[in-house]
Amino acid sequence: MTQPCIFCQIIKRQSSAKIVYEDERIVAFEDIKPVAPVHLLIIPKKHYRSLNEISPEDEPLLGHLISLATRLAEEKGLKKTGYRLVINTGPNSGQQIDHLHLHLLGGRPFSWPPG
Ligand code: 5GP
Ligand code: ZN
Repeated sequence: MTQPCIFCQIIKRQSSAKIVYEDERIVAFEDIKPVAPVHLLIIPKKHYRSLNEISPEDEPLLGHLISLATRLAEEKGLKKTGYRLVINTGPNSGQQIDHLHLHLLGGRPFSWPPG
């Protein structure tokens, strides 16, 4: 039997998470192991395993994800100091959860390039 997707379970409230935003297409919640003072995950309700499953029809959804991230960044007071948006995709990126998610990270400086 395949493991249920933890992020789909969060969407269905079958697993708990601190949800900070929800609409008919997307959900945003706090990362369980934050790596920065602000660490939110923004996910589509539809299960895509990664960006590799996105098609041109999904462009409005991707725009919506990023647009919400900028709104949440403003709400968290990150606009002046800056923040980072990350979508890990595939093994080389370190992607751990196979449900497309956008990280919103802020509240401290980040180095570049990534390790
Ligand atoms: P990835 O490495 O796939 O880009 O990131 C997955 C993220 O999901 C990690 O930052 C990890 O801490 C977070 N995460 C994994 N499981 C859970 C969970 O059950 N609840 C929440 N809120 N975050 C999770
Ligand atoms: Zn899922």
